[in-house]
Amino acid sequence: MALTRRQLIARMSALAALAAGGGWPLAATARRKRIMVWRNWSGAQQCVPAERFAPGDEMELADWLRATPYSVRPVGAGHSFSAVVPTDGALLTLARMQGLISHDADKHQAEFHGGTAMATMGPALKEVGQGMLNMADIDYQTLAGALATSTHGTGIGFGSYSSNITGLRLVTAGGEVIDCDADNRPEVFNAACVSLGALGVVTRVRLQNRSAFRLKERMSVEKTEDLLDNIDSLVRENRHWEMQVVTHSDYAASISLNETDEEPTPVEEGASEGGNEYLYWMQKADQYGRDAPGARRALLNLVAGFADFEERVGESWEIYANVRDVRFNEMEYSVPAEAGPACLREIIQTINEQQLHTWFPIEYRYIKADEIPISMFEGRDSCAISIHQHYSQSWHEYFGAIEKIFWKYEGRPHWGKLHSLNARHLGSLYPRWEEFTEVRQALDPQGKFLNGHLRSLFGVT
Ligand SMILES: Cc1cc2nc3c(=O)[nH]c(=O)nc-3n(C[C@H](O)[C@H](O)[C@H](O)COP(=O)(O)OP(=O)(O)OC[C@H]3O[C@@H](n4cnc5c(N)ncnc54)[C@H](O)[C@@H]3O)c2cc1C
Repeated sequence: MALTRRQLIARMSALAALAAGGGWPLAATARRKRIMVWRNWSGAQQCVPAERFAPGDEMELADWLRATPYSVRPVGAGHSFSAVVPTDGALLTLARMQGLISHDADKHQAEFHGGTAMATMGPALKEVGQGMLNMADIDYQTLAGALATSTHGTGIGFGSYSSNITGLRLVTAGGEVIDCDADNRPEVFNAACVSLGALGVVTRVRLQNRSAFRLKERMSVEKTEDLLDNIDSLVRENRHWEMQVVTHSDYAASISLNETDEEPTPVEEGASEGGNEYLYWMQKADQYGRDAPGARRALLNLVAGFADFEERVGESWEIYANVRDVRFNEMEYSVPAEAGPACLREIIQTINEQQLHTWFPIEYRYIKADEIPISMFEGRDSCAISIHQHYSQSWHEYFGAIEKIFWKYEGRPHWGKLHSLNARHLGSLYPRWEEFTEVRQALDPQGKFLNGHLRSLFGVT
């Protein structure tokens, strides 16, 4: 059928009018809200939020909180393994509220926006002559996200990040902006230092730091039993000490970090990746030796004998933080510090006896007690033991078998990592549990900041 130019224009106009009027299915599809799936770092948690919001300041945030009809989950960098973030309501990010706000040179304190990426904090603090007292083993988190789950590093003289908070700002479900510290609204302050984002949105945090410093990292591979026999001196004599136990072998990597005035080590191409390269051997040993446990152990022990690590010196934040580019899922419990060795030995024995399928190392660290109602370290020096499974493998059998051992030792689960406890069990693990739940009920009586996971943790129907 031949069309004149005039006829063609007329038909195109009719089609455009049809589309604009909603009668054209493609136009309707284009107008429909884009489905944007949210996933955590490991990929095990996901959701499709009805709304996403990124305020530029507290005023905008408070107005939005008062107006949104949805329940709200704040999200940081999505580096939690547990279901603390997923929501079919609104997902709130402070990605536009980042950076250093102010600092106090005399007290070595600094205030940051809650959405600050932790990877940017070391350099920003160095500029003003400060350094964080301790850091976790990665710095991909946001500040408020890390505080919400009591994220920690290692070193019996150091608490979690939350234990270094000297003041914070919280925006509540009703849009109230609360500045709190040990003197001003102390009950809110204590609860908000570790809150799982259940009290409101933490928009500012003041941290106690120290003068900027350098660290030297030393790594060696030793027999796990020898390290356990020397545990007291390793923990006491190093500023930070941890071990990574190679599962299905007799060895562990012993890692110590101590303060130094030495010049930073030049970063060379092909330099050690902090032990990450040995994950390759562990995976291969699992792939080819799983059905021959004796041979697998012999191979892993042989590789351990060749392991060699360069010492590294750098600015504190450069040495604390590692690159983790092999994705995994994780469970971690903190047991009383003195129970650490017995708990670890039982875990290793169970993995060996039941030939549990895993090839990731077990991380073993120490953390100083704090006084934060639902911090894992409340009231007791602790030993944190973490087990990992590659993201592509099921973790259920492995984590299920080991979780029972953690319970025997009165373990408290890391809020950001996988576990199966709910309010029934958690209340008895935390002597100050009700202090937290009362503040939560007072600040958010409608449960605007709860998702299914948090409801089960706090026993809210
Ligand atoms: C590779 C890897 C290594 C890790 N290493 C360690 C480690 O060494 N030590 C350790 O303890 N943990 C570690 N973790 C766990 C991780 O530190 C925590 O789960 C942390 O909470 C993640 O921070 P995030 O910014 O990704 O927050 P998300 O995971 O996005 O959120 C965590 C919690 O913070 C809340 N939240 C986020 N922003 C706000 C806000 N502005 N106000 C109120 N609540 C908020 C969320 O609602 C949620 O409850 C590791 C995780 C991974 C993936």
